[in-house]
Amino acid sequence: MAQTQKLIDPLFGNEGAENPLGVLKRVYGYSSFRGKQAAVVERVVSGGDAVVLFPTGAGKSLCFQIPALCRDGVGIVISPLIALMRDQVEALRQLGVRAAALNSSLTREEFANVRQAIGRGNLDLLYVTPERIVTPAFRELLGNARIALFAIDEAHCVSQWGHDFRPEYRELGQLAVQYPGVPRLALTATADPHTREDIIDRLALRSAEVFTTSFDRPNIAYEIVERDQPRQQLLRFLSRHKGSSGIVYCLSRAKVEDTAEWLNGRGVRALAYHAGMERDVRDANQDAFLKQEDLCLVATVAFGMGIDKPNVRYVAHLDLPGSVEAYYQETGRAGRDGLPSDAWMAYGMADAIQRGRMIDEGASGDDIKRVERAKLYALLGICKTPGCRRQAILAHFGEAHEGQCGNCDTCLKPVETWDGTEATIKALAAIYRTGERFGTGHLIDVLLGHENEKTARFGHTIMPVFGAGKDLPSKTWQSVYRQLLAAGLISVDHDAFGALRLTPEARAVFKREREVRFRKDRPASGKASRSAPSRSASAKSALEGSNMELFEALRAARMAIAKELSVPPYVVFPDTTLVAFATERPTSRDALLGISGVGQSKLERYGDLFLKVIRAHQG
Ligand code: ADP
Ligand code: ZN
Repeated sequence: MAQTQKLIDPLFGNEGAENPLGVLKRVYGYSSFRGKQAAVVERVVSGGDAVVLFPTGAGKSLCFQIPALCRDGVGIVISPLIALMRDQVEALRQLGVRAAALNSSLTREEFANVRQAIGRGNLDLLYVTPERIVTPAFRELLGNARIALFAIDEAHCVSQWGHDFRPEYRELGQLAVQYPGVPRLALTATADPHTREDIIDRLALRSAEVFTTSFDRPNIAYEIVERDQPRQQLLRFLSRHKGSSGIVYCLSRAKVEDTAEWLNGRGVRALAYHAGMERDVRDANQDAFLKQEDLCLVATVAFGMGIDKPNVRYVAHLDLPGSVEAYYQETGRAGRDGLPSDAWMAYGMADAIQRGRMIDEGASGDDIKRVERAKLYALLGICKTPGCRRQAILAHFGEAHEGQCGNCDTCLKPVETWDGTEATIKALAAIYRTGERFGTGHLIDVLLGHENEKTARFGHTIMPVFGAGKDLPSKTWQSVYRQLLAAGLISVDHDAFGALRLTPEARAVFKREREVRFRKDRPASGKASRSAPSRSASAKSALEGSNMELFEALRAARMAIAKELSVPPYVVFPDTTLVAFATERPTSRDALLGISGVGQSKLERYGDLFLKVIRAHQG
């Protein structure tokens, strides 16, 4: 022990004066800050406020953890989900950070311990819920203790615009008044302009510096297929992910349960999660998902917020998500560790049309309906795009992506397209000339020149557009109208029995200022919808032969430790660190310290154990 202490001492330096980079190396074992982390840390360490808009996996946690360690007093972290605080606190303790979570499950004694630690200045980080922080009892608990900072995690919960609105978040603006002079940071992976405005406004962060980075998640491969035999399609997708964990999202509780059961019958270990389940079972399933490495969690969107399991290797959607924002947030739960991961969706056009009908028939006002319709079309536009998915998604968030990404289905296996400008002009003309009062069936009759009772009665047979579309078959016209809908060039008026109307965007096509390209629809058979070749598989894909064997041995050692401590394996070491162990094969404590993710505390705790595993595999 004495010897190891000597080894550490020079690194510790003078505790009070340790700089952020020193903390990063000693505590976390990382050699440098990523992207704008350093700028955020500097801002907060010097007492300024910050709004941090980074995508999932960018490393937001360090942006408040390191300033909390560098500044005097306790850093207070506001986090929406009690269930997940425990793992975060445990992960920090593994790093040797003095952390605690305040929640109703604490015993009287544990509570007293937290109080005492705060009073004595012995706590680095305290996690609390938004409900609790604004109570007088909490103020009293803090007493005169020094506060290093307030970090408001998942800050988009303050916005009604988003999908995770939590009214309690609105009260957090009070912190500015109650604790003047204490730096505050708001962090989120949701960055649309509305949400951003709400965060700055509601949380009283007008003088904060706003930090943003690209929202691209290059390690996630996107793939979107049209649904045809959904379960078989899902099974084929899952077969690429044997032995790793992922999430399958379904819209309804019943579908969650049926799908989980069906998968188990097909040899895929799957558990269900939805808000209608008994709490115990639900919590147990979530816990199993966090702690085990090869589970498929079938869930409604009730699952996921605040889940920071880094090695979720895939997220699959069996139904259309609520919006592009929701899709991006949900798929973003894959690949936090930066390793290759898959986002896969199977959507049904019939469902999309049904959803459009629900919006139109809903009780909300016209303005809201317009927004909801626009959100639906934006999503369909991404499903139907013949171009790069990533480009389309990032464009939705106002970000340009140069060139094709090379890591989505349309890039890896380009879809066949055809120039549909002429066809579009005809299809739009049919709508316009007939007064925007008819649905697809009748419009196609007009285009094909079908003389029947209806076309005659309305005088459509004498219009120039009558028969103008004879060059294409009826099926193609159906596909054209579907894709125009998806592209937002036309809309369905459900109040008028499904009549199609032109949207303002249609003008540019009419005026030939905009070219339209369509996907060639593939025949609907099981074979035709085979998955695109995927570059991603798992962390293991980088490993071969003996390195792979060593990786498995390291994984087993990690699992044994995790089980004993009752924590998820990634709390011990993330996959990225194990991969580095397996490829670089460090054989001394010094060499171990050189590996990303090995800090002093973990070296002390697990260094020898992992060295032993590595040495056992040498020669
Ligand atoms: P976010 O909260 O933005 O989704 P996290 O804070 O969970 O992201 O970080 C994602 C992963 O990246 C974690 O495993 C974290 O330890 C790792 N990480 C963060 N910053 C760095 C860094 N500077 N160097 C290496 N790894 C980092
Ligand atoms: Zn692409």
